[in-house]
Amino acid sequence: MVPLQPSDLAYNDVQPTEPARALPGDPAGEQAARATRETGPPPVFGKAGAGASARGRESVSMSPLVILGQDRPVPPPIPAWSGAGGSRLVDAFGRRLTYLRVSVTDRCNLRCSYCLPEDADFPFGDRDFLSPGEIEAMVGALVRLGIRRVRLTGGEPLVRRDILEIVRRVKALPGVENLALSTNGTELARLAPALKSAGVDRVNVSVDSLDPERFREVTRGGDLELVWRGIEAALAAGLDPVKLNAVLLSGAGGLADAERLAALTLDHPLSVRFIERMPTEVNQGLQAEEFLSADEVRARLEARFGPLLAASTASPRTGPAAAYRFAGARGEVGFITPLSHTFCADCNRLRLTARGELRLCLFADRVHPLRHLLAAPRPEAALEAEILRVLQDKPAEHKLTQGDYGNLVSFMQIGG
Ligand code: SAM
Repeated sequence: MVPLQPSDLAYNDVQPTEPARALPGDPAGEQAARATRETGPPPVFGKAGAGASARGRESVSMSPLVILGQDRPVPPPIPAWSGAGGSRLVDAFGRRLTYLRVSVTDRCNLRCSYCLPEDADFPFGDRDFLSPGEIEAMVGALVRLGIRRVRLTGGEPLVRRDILEIVRRVKALPGVENLALSTNGTELARLAPALKSAGVDRVNVSVDSLDPERFREVTRGGDLELVWRGIEAALAAGLDPVKLNAVLLSGAGGLADAERLAALTLDHPLSVRFIERMPTEVNQGLQAEEFLSADEVRARLEARFGPLLAASTASPRTGPAAAYRFAGARGEVGFITPLSHTFCADCNRLRLTARGELRLCLFADRVHPLRHLLAAPRPEAALEAEILRVLQDKPAEHKLTQGDYGNLVSFMQIGG
């Protein structure tokens, strides 16, 4: 293993991140004191006390921007695309593929410990990532075949200087009904309005802990306040919904993190999704002793806040996350449980890597190169034919529970 070098942490496409700032003081108050006693101090960014719970359950104070967001109803989940007669993306098991995740880079400006441990062999390869035009061509082929929802991810997608051009090109493709973005939020305060104008509809922000010190530790240097300002900027820009993704981390700290994140949903229209940590090549050593199951977290949250009810009248499962809410809560709590409860039978997704390979399953043994087809005499037809050909190799299910994570080195390669 090659140790991380300072030069590996820098990526010349990285956008300038605002300098880290000290967190503002946490004003004294009974609510804060109560929460501190039970789950540690809540973050108080913006105007303190603005998000006080109406029901006596402790909540996390948020700024006026978030309070503005309360007037908006929590939007219903996007229905699965029925695509009658339109989609040709049907795999050997009859699953219709309508959702594409596109990694635009495998570089990131954070180093979350579970994603890229210190001894990980990084970087994963050169910086010859797909250009905006190449992304447009490849996503275009997939959309002509039946993809309807696209998510841009990474690495950290917002470290690409041309991210707005990528957004504009993908959103302009006829057939793209919804464009989402996954981000660690570090560049969101600066970019949220431009992303919205360029065509991003919804955003998921990764926040594993609301404790600034723990956040800094887990992300190896991340600034929670900066990310929090990004979340507020996303809400203010009208990105809808704004979801928070938290990987479940083991130990007492992990359960406390989950409680504090779940408390946000009591009074704020935010969706918090807890993700079971998955093994990859770089983090398999951590997996066994540090795994925290969604069932354990759910039991803890219900003991603290009351029963979790299905968030919609339909099944709680919308995609991989099962969505719930506490009685009377404004936001939702979701669980993504690839290990304890698999959801492969309903899989509707494909993935495109930053170097132009199709990944049929997150934990597949191999990827399928497509980029060379852009040089074919009729690239559009060549891409479509190859995608339809390899699609039949999409496996019925992953084998994570048997410890087989395929050839996935780190989520940083493909963005989950
Ligand atoms: N940089 C973006 C972000 O932070 O959301 C997109 C890429 S990041 C790799 C996508 C998601 O994968 C994040 O929510 C991250 O926490 C999650 N992730 C990374 N490693 C994981 C693992 N081993 N198991 C489960 N989720 C993981």
